[in-house]
Amino acid sequence: MKLIIMGPPGSGKGSQAELLENKLNLKHIPLGEILRDEIRKNTTIGKKVKRISKGSLAPDYVVDKLVKKIIKGKNDFILDGYPRHLAQAKYLDKITKIDKVFLLDTPSNLIIKRLSNRRACKCGETYNLLTKKPKKDSICDKDGEKLYQRDDDTPKIIKKRIKLYKKQTIPVINYYKKKKLLIKIDSSKSLKQVFNEIKNKLYKR
Ligand SMILES: [Zn+2]
Repeated sequence: MKLIIMGPPGSGKGSQAELLENKLNLKHIPLGEILRDEIRKNTTIGKKVKRISKGSLAPDYVVDKLVKKIIKGKNDFILDGYPRHLAQAKYLDKITKIDKVFLLDTPSNLIIKRLSNRRACKCGETYNLLTKKPKKDSICDKDGEKLYQRDDDTPKIIKKRIKLYKKQTIPVINYYKKKKLLIKIDSSKSLKQVFNEIKNKLYKR
């Protein structure tokens, strides 16, 4: 099954995609994380997309090529963070056939609340002071390192990200609605409830 999971920052789409990977064996492809990794390692791709952490987008030609390479030969995956706008959705149609698109619907005030409580560790582990607290305050469960707040999880940048998300993705949402691939999920519920709802709708025609 070839899936896309969409939703504003803070909709919990990354956590849902991880659950789908672990429970249903779909390969999670988190484009944002993959790109951040390229930046950290200062690869050729990384240098080109350096602007992404400021809330702007990586150039299409770089991201499109990367996605094509990643999904090549795979039949079960869940794309997360791609496509971000209409041109990318159309490009994706040329290289593969998507089965379903899940949209995690989340009100803006909940997004801000969730994101400003997010904490990260250098090892890649992420936490949320509301939903996924570390065992010890501000310390990573895995390696004991001090947790930090990502630059783009501050209220000012969160608002900018929501605005950008809406502008870019409404055409994508409409595109998949027309193709009858779009499934809307209310993501203000708990992680488990949202996952169950996705699972229920996954194999329905
Ligand atoms: Zn850690």
